[in-house]
Amino acid sequence: MAILKIKKYPDPILRKKCQEVKEVTEEIKNLGWDMVETMTENQGIGLSAPQVGELKRIIVVHPIKERSPKEKTLRSPQIFINPKITEKSKETEIDEEGCLSFPGLFLKIKRRKAVKIAALNERGEKIQVRAEGLPARIFQHEIDHLDGILFIDRLSFWQKFKLKP
Ligand code: ZN
Repeated sequence: MAILKIKKYPDPILRKKCQEVKEVTEEIKNLGWDMVETMTENQGIGLSAPQVGELKRIIVVHPIKERSPKEKTLRSPQIFINPKITEKSKETEIDEEGCLSFPGLFLKIKRRKAVKIAALNERGEKIQVRAEGLPARIFQHEIDHLDGILFIDRLSFWQKFKLKP
């Protein structure tokens, strides 16, 4: 495994749309595990492939301490290939978010409270995950990255207005 260099904003790669992974090859698996190591080394809780310079639909998510039984979705860092949100709650939640591509920046962002994710794991098997609270937030943040969407784009009108000099 290797620790990869994290692309920082405003690197143009962060604005590109990522390609679906056609086949879960050894190379894809290795990239996934390198991303897990890179995330852990940088004390992140999620990371997407474009953040390490790869325009592929891959994200990794760190296990989250169980705050409620509903949140015990992940026990070890997991690799999600071609992740898609298949269901989302109407209910939203505002909480603070950071991003490894924006060191030191923390913003309050509104997200869906719960989501269902369909993806492939590193063995190429179809998996489904239901996430609520912080894990749901991580999935939404990381899947946004795959479409070139950054958390600064999710600020409300008034937050943007207040940030203007
Ligand atoms: Zn991010």
